[in-house]
Amino acid sequence: MSEFKVPEKMTCEEFQSHLPDLIATGEDIFQHPHILECELCRSLLADLEAIADAARQLLAPAEDPPDTVWEQIQSKIQAEGPGVREEEPQIETADPAKLK
Ligand SMILES: [Zn+2]
Repeated sequence: MSEFKVPEKMTCEEFQSHLPDLIATGEDIFQHPHILECELCRSLLADLEAIADAARQLLAPAEDPPDTVWEQIQSKIQAEGPGVREEEPQIETADPAKLK
């Protein structure tokens, strides 16, 4: 694994999980190699842009979209995308008092 090198070929899942990061860094996502070759993510991104645009207008005058906007977008991605969420059962700290 080397730094921030994004592999030429990445899956939609990988791309979409990177998307909030890419947005946060201010990269031109429409130039992203995956976007250039993946129609699915391109239309998803267009959707997100429309949402972000509307949100920006609603929340004007804000220079930068607040984090909550991207959180909403991210949850939309997660709601629509394939289940890439890692399900790690939370192991609760054993409380001797309750362990009987
Ligand atoms: Zn894709």
